[in-house]
Amino acid sequence: MSKGNDIVVFISSRNSTCGECKQELGRRAWITLDRKKNALCLNCADLDHLVFLPSGDAALTRRSRKYSGLSAVVVKWSSARKRYERQGLLVENEALELAEKECATDEEARKLARARAAARRAELDQEYIRSFASRVREIYAYCPTGRENLIAEHACRKYSGRVGRSAAAKALDEEAVRLAVAAHVRHAETNYDELLLKGIERWDAREKVYPKVSRTLDRWKYGESQD
Ligand SMILES: [Zn+2]
Repeated sequence: MSKGNDIVVFISSRNSTCGECKQELGRRAWITLDRKKNALCLNCADLDHLVFLPSGDAALTRRSRKYSGLSAVVVKWSSARKRYERQGLLVENEALELAEKECATDEEARKLARARAAARRAELDQEYIRSFASRVREIYAYCPTGRENLIAEHACRKYSGRVGRSAAAKALDEEAVRLAVAAHVRHAETNYDELLLKGIERWDAREKVYPKVSRTLDRWKYGESQD
């Protein structure tokens, strides 16, 4: 409400009569007041060409008001809250249409931006998987073919949407890669999952499979000769 000289239209709660055309407006008529505080129907007030935009869409309201040469704030007395409450705006039809068009364009822009962000994220994910996989291959040169991709995809899913470039880079340090490979080995190369299903505590199960995980990691890192 920054225009200061806003025309206010009241949704009346009692019977009113237009002070100018003397028409009985009945209850709930939309009226404005003249300088002497007499009720005026919208026709006499020259506001009947305006269209009503209910409150609720802030951007649409702001824009409609901006484009409308003439606009009026519509209020209604709330007996529960003992105050007038804003119901919406009366604006020129062209203004509303222009505002709607602008808001729709924004909506398109927002949709586009969302799609672009999703594509960029997917690309980042692909890049992450590739670099993670090659890091696995680099450190665990003897790991079975294709495992580096499984491990990388899993690591990526885990961090998907949360890794920025720096976080991704951090995740590529040797310890992070070792943890990811160890987790994979635990699930894929030992009976760890079976132990969990039997109800064995996670840390007990980990301890049971630790020797095998450790041997496997060494083998994947240094080759069969180390066994
Ligand atoms: Zn009138």
